[in-house]
Amino acid sequence: MKQINQLKIRETATLRHALEQLDATANGVLLLVDENDRLLRTVTDGDIRRLLLSGATLEDTLGRLPPLHSKTVRQGIRQSDALAIMDKYEIDHLPVLDDQERPVDLLLRREIDGPILLSTPHLSDYEQAFVQEAFRTNWVAPMGPNVDAFEVELAQYVGVSHAVAVSSGTAAIHLGLRLLGVGEGDTVFCSTLTFVGSANPILYLGAKPVFIDSEPSTWNMSPQALYRALEDAAVQGRLPKAVVIVNLYGQSADMDPLLALCDTYQVPVLEDAAESLGATYKGRFSGTFGRVGIYSFNGNKIITTSGGGMLVSDDQDLVEKARFLATQARDPAPYYQHNEVGYNYRMSNVLAGIGRGQLKVLEDRVRARRAVFAAYVEGLADVEGITWMPEAPFGRATRWLSAAVLDPSLISAEDLIRSLARERIEARRVWKPMHLQPLFAGARYYSHEEGVSISDTIFERGVCLPSGSNMTPRQQQRIIRSFRQIIGKS
Ligand SMILES: *Cc1c(COP(=O)(O)O)cnc(C)c1O
Repeated sequence: MKQINQLKIRETATLRHALEQLDATANGVLLLVDENDRLLRTVTDGDIRRLLLSGATLEDTLGRLPPLHSKTVRQGIRQSDALAIMDKYEIDHLPVLDDQERPVDLLLRREIDGPILLSTPHLSDYEQAFVQEAFRTNWVAPMGPNVDAFEVELAQYVGVSHAVAVSSGTAAIHLGLRLLGVGEGDTVFCSTLTFVGSANPILYLGAKPVFIDSEPSTWNMSPQALYRALEDAAVQGRLPKAVVIVNLYGQSADMDPLLALCDTYQVPVLEDAAESLGATYKGRFSGTFGRVGIYSFNGNKIITTSGGGMLVSDDQDLVEKARFLATQARDPAPYYQHNEVGYNYRMSNVLAGIGRGQLKVLEDRVRARRAVFAAYVEGLADVEGITWMPEAPFGRATRWLSAAVLDPSLISAEDLIRSLARERIEARRVWKPMHLQPLFAGARYYSHEEGVSISDTIFERGVCLPSGSNMTPRQQQRIIRSFRQIIGKS
C-alpha cells in the first residue's frame, strides 16, 4: 500500500513545495486535504503548470487553486469497476475515501490496469554484460565462452561434476533417456503429474511410457505406486529402461525411497528438475540425485535464458556423449563423418550469457517466489477450503508456482480462473496428468493406492496462482483482494 500520508498536502503549502512533493512521491498526483483530513481535490503537475502560466509564482500557495470536484471512490471497490470509472472520466488516478471523506488509498491506472501473468521472465542487472561480451567478441554462435562458463557455474552451484547446456529442457530429457539406453519398444516409467515435456521424449525414442501417480504429501511420485509398478514389471520380465522422476512446482520428490526402489531393480533414474532448480532435498540440490538430471531455462521457469536447458551428471562419459549427440554426432574426422543419429541441440553463446547473469540471482528468485507463496497463505489464511501444496520437511521448495487444491464447496478451479481472468489475473489449472492425456491413451498407470488416484484429484481441484518473482507487493495484494471478492469474503 502506498504511504497515503505522503501524498496529502494542505492549501497553505507553496507551489514550490507541491512540486517537490510531486517529485518525491512520483505518482503524478497529490491529495489536497482540509484541517480534518477530508479530501478537497486532487493536484497534478498540470494544475500547477496552469497556475504558473496564469501568473502565479512558486511562492504562492495552493489556496489559489480553483475548487474541483475530483472523482473518488469508496473502499472495497473492485479493480474492474475502478478501471471503468477511470476510463469513463479519462483519468489515471482515483482517490479512495472512507466514510468521513478522508483519503485512505490512491488507485493508479498503471497499477491496476496491467495484466498479471502466471510466471514471467525476471532479468537482473547482470545479463547484459555477458551478452554484450558475446557481441563484442563476435561469439554469438555457436557455443563459445559463455556456454562453457555457464556449464561450469551451474554444475558448481548445484554440486555435480559435469553439465552440458542445450536448447531446451525437453532436449536434455531426450538426450538423457537415449544415453540411459532407452530405445524402440522399451518401457520408461514417468511421473504422471507433470508437463508433457517430461514424457514426449519417451515417444521420440519409440519407447512406451508407464505413468506413476503422486503421493499426497509432496504431489510427486508415490513410492508405493512405483513399488507396485516395479514388482509387476519384474514379474513380467519387462523392467523399464529408466524412471523419469519429476520435481513438481519447485519441490523435490522424496528421493530416498524412490532411489532405493530403483536401485533394487537396477533401473537408472532421470531426474526432471525443470521446475525445481534451487530446491533442496536433505541438504543437496534438486536435480543431482538421478544418474542424469535436467533443468529448463524456458521463459516461465525460475531463471531463464529465454529458452534452454541443461543436462547434468557425475558421469563424465555420459555428459561428453550428450555433448557429442547434441552437436549432430559428428565424428572426430578431418571431414564431416557420422556414425549415429545426432541432434542440433546446443545452446547459443548469447543465451548462455543470459543464463550466467540469471544464475547470479537464483537465490533471490527463490526467496521472492517463496515470499509470494507466503503472502497468499497469509492473505487467505481465514478462508476455509484451500489446501496449499505441502512443503515436505525433507528440504526447501522454491515455490516456483504457488499451487493449491480448492474444496468444491468453496469454488471450482475453473470458476476461480475464469473470474480472475476478468480482473486480468492469469491463474492456471494444475498440469493435466499424463495418464489422462489423449496422447497417451492406453498407457499403463499405477495409482497411489488401488482405486485411489491422487493426481486426478489434484488436477480436478488444483490451481496455480501468479507466482512471478517480479510481482510487486501491490500486485500480490490485488490478487488476494480479487480472490476474496470472487469467493464473497472481501
Ligand atoms: C518446462 C518443463 C519441461 C520442458 O522444458 P523446456 O525447456 O520447456 O523444453 C520438462 N519438464 C517439466 C516438468 C517442465 O516443467
